[in-house]
Formats: sequence, C-alpha cells, structure tokens
Amino acid sequence: MTEALRAGAPSGGPGAGREGAQHRLLRRGAALLEESDPELARLLDAEADEQTHTLAMVASASVADPAVLAAGGAALSNVTAEGYPGARYHPGAARFDAVERLAAERARHAFGAAYANVQPHSCSSANQAVLAALLAPGGTLLALDLDSGGHLTHGSPASVTGRHYRAVHYGLDAAGLVDYGAVAELAHRHRPQVLIAGASAYPRRLDFERFRSIADEVGAYLVADISHIAGLVAAGEHPSPVDVAHLTTTSTYKQLGGPRGGLILSGAEHRTPGPDGRTPLERLVQRAVFPQSQGTPAPAAIAAKARALALVAEPAFKEAMRLVVEDASALAAALALRGHRVLTGGTDNHMVLLDMGARGMSGVVAERALEECAILANRNRIPSDTRPPLVTSGLRLGTNILAQRGIGPDEMPRCAELMDRVLGATTVLGDTEHRVDPGVRDAVRREVAALCRAHPLPFWPTARTAVAPERSGERH
Ligand SMILES: *Cc1c(COP(=O)(O)O)cnc(C)c1O
Repeated sequence: MTEALRAGAPSGGPGAGREGAQHRLLRRGAALLEESDPELARLLDAEADEQTHTLAMVASASVADPAVLAAGGAALSNVTAEGYPGARYHPGAARFDAVERLAAERARHAFGAAYANVQPHSCSSANQAVLAALLAPGGTLLALDLDSGGHLTHGSPASVTGRHYRAVHYGLDAAGLVDYGAVAELAHRHRPQVLIAGASAYPRRLDFERFRSIADEVGAYLVADISHIAGLVAAGEHPSPVDVAHLTTTSTYKQLGGPRGGLILSGAEHRTPGPDGRTPLERLVQRAVFPQSQGTPAPAAIAAKARALALVAEPAFKEAMRLVVEDASALAAALALRGHRVLTGGTDNHMVLLDMGARGMSGVVAERALEECAILANRNRIPSDTRPPLVTSGLRLGTNILAQRGIGPDEMPRCAELMDRVLGATTVLGDTEHRVDPGVRDAVRREVAALCRAHPLPFWPTARTAVAPERSGERH
C-alpha cells in the first residue's frame, strides 16, 4: 500500500479506474447490502459509527485496520479446501495456498517462531487442538484457576477441556501474583503432562522461564497462552514464551488488530518429540488442528491474519504497544489516586483490574453505568469473588484501543476522571440495578465524543456527523 493511501488520501485519483477485482467486488457488495438489506446494513453502519465515538477499554479487544477488515471480506472465502498448502483435499486452492503460506511466514516473522499454524478459528480452538496433541483423554493439566484470571479452555468444568482431562488449578498469593511455589508444589503432587501459563485477567508479567523449569522438573510440556498479551510479546514489551514454551497459542483479534481467529506457534521446541516419543510437536499440531479438531479453514480470515501480522512487524505497531503499557500504568495510577482499589497495585501490561466491591458496587453495575456514558469496560470476577459470574465484583480495563487512537499517558488522568465521574454519579439500587444521573451522563458522553474526535481511529473515514468533508485529503 502506498504511503499516500495509508495516510488516508482520497483513492479517487490515479489508479481509481484500475481498482482490482477484489476492490470492485467489495464496493459492489457494500452497495448491494445497503440496497437489498437496509435492516442489516443499518445495524452494521450503526456499529461502525458507534466505534468511532466510544471510549473502548475492553482489555480483550483492539480495532482492526480497514485493510484487515477488507481482506476478511475477500472472495477467497469461497474457496473450500481442507488440509494444508500443497496438500489439500480439494481443487482450486492455488491462491489460497499462497495466502496461507504468506500468513504463516508472517506469523513466524512477527514472533520469531520456527513454526506457525494459522488455521485455528479462535484461541479456544487452538487450545483444544494443542491439548489434544499433548494429552491423552483423562490426562492431567495444571493451569491458572478461572477465578484467579485463568481461561475456560484451561480445564474449567464449564469447558470440554475440563471434562476430557483431569484439570488441577493453581491460584494467586495474597498480593494477587502467581504463586510459583504453589505451582511447583502442585506439579510435583499431581505430575501433569501439560502445564499452562497464560491468563485472561492478570495485570502482571508472567515468568515463562520459571514455568518452564517447573514443567521440566516433572516432565510436562509447557503451553503458553498469550491470547491477551500477544501484541506486547511481538513488540518486545513482554518477555516472549515462543522459545521457552513447547507450544504457544494466541487469539488474533485481542491485541494483534487482526480478524477473529487463533494461531499456534512454536520456537526452539518445534521438533521436540511429542508424548509418543517420536512425532515432532509441529507434526502433532498440524494433525491436531486438521483433521482432529477442525474442518475447512477460513481462507479470508487467514488473508486478514496475513495483513494484520504484516502490520504487527512494522515500527508503528511497536510504538503503539509501548503506548499501551505506558497508558495502562498511568491509568492505574490515576484511578488509584481517585481512591479505586487497583488489584496488585498497578500493572505491567495493558490491563487494569479494579475491585468495585470496595466501592460498594458490583462489576455489572459499573460496566452498565459506564456503557450508558459511551465508555466500555467489562465486569470480571476477582480472586475470592462472592458475586456470581454474570454479576462479579471486578472491572477489567485495557488500553489497547486508547493507544491505537494515539491517546497517551498524559490523557489517562482525564480518562480516569471521566470514569470516576460516571461511577460517582451512579446510584446503586442493588447488585444489578442502578441509575446514572442524566446530567452527568450527557456531559460525559459529550466529552467522550470530543476526545474520540481529537484522536480518531487510524485510517478510519471521518464519521458522517463530523464537520470535515468526507473526501478531504487530510488524514481522517
Ligand atoms: C480470550 C482467551 C482465549 C480464547 O480466545 P478466543 O479466540 O476468543 O477463543 C483463550 N485463552 C485466553 C487466556 C484468553 O484470554
């Protein structure tokens, strides 16, 4: 893509008549959708609009570049081809083969990995595949407890992983940090075949080396699940597990700005024998994804992964990830200054966890009150939570999208102030009932919109409501 186009210059100039087949198809498709299905088109428009003027602090989200979204809508999606490049079970996959090879190569490059599988439809499917590769039914895994910030697919009874395998869970110490002593003790007591290092709600660094030495002591494979922190890992803002763990899994949409989907990576251990003592891990993973746990891959999603992974390797992405970390620490400090109880006292990554119970408010009330004021953050269970999972006592914030918008640490006190103003104007009527003062709500919504206008999503077109002309040569 040319510099001018990336800078948001109009695309109606030279070359407009030479739009490629895919470009014309997307343009036609968008027009057809508006004409033939206004009901659906309106919903999709409303969402695109909403995202332009909402302060999204959902820790598990990022915004995909418009080119990533376009690749995800490619005609390539029509290719049905089970198997892997060069070894498909269907004809007509030559272009898809090239796209999948490109995506895998970019994944290896972005993470310094020796092996990448880009077919998993999600990190959940990646985890299921990896567990299937490493564990026999009934085998033992050791992972972080769900209530301490772990993930469903790490052996929760609510997930098939908790039914097919015997799951043992470690927790956190009194300071809210992973209790490595307890991990080692449980590993020696239960002799798991797989140890999982990874979390959905944990604001501190994970010590992958330490996990690895515990795994080695008991002869377990180490799986690192970096679903939440993949961007920080790729940018060098969090130590990488790729050469430390046997296998690493991630989502592609949480911090990588990619489409819905997952990846499986392996570094130094990619040829290490699996549980049978001979088959290399990379071969086991290939089979575990297809045919063991998935059918046809999603070719357009893989194209979108390829585009996102190319962006991940660019200097601008590294800059954004540095900002993510700076923003999160500044946000945690600003919230603590306003009297919020910040779990672990701060953060090392993109995430800030608050104990709303300490404010006499449930997580869901905080989430809904903020949403009414165009601020998105999600309820989250916190260690020794007494409220049910749909209610919770915690609130989880993340700075991925703030940093993508170029909102820096200097503006975090303002973001904290906006949040605090909403929560201070929220009357709690129960664990799931509340009322926000309408005057405060309207004022905060206006301020959020102004903040978002001052920091537009990169490469997004100007919102209809904005004053700027739609096709100005300026960066939108
Ligand atoms: C979100 C998450 C997953 C699941 O990711 P999906 O791509 O949504 O399936 C797995 N592991 C961890 C640690 C997560 O946070």
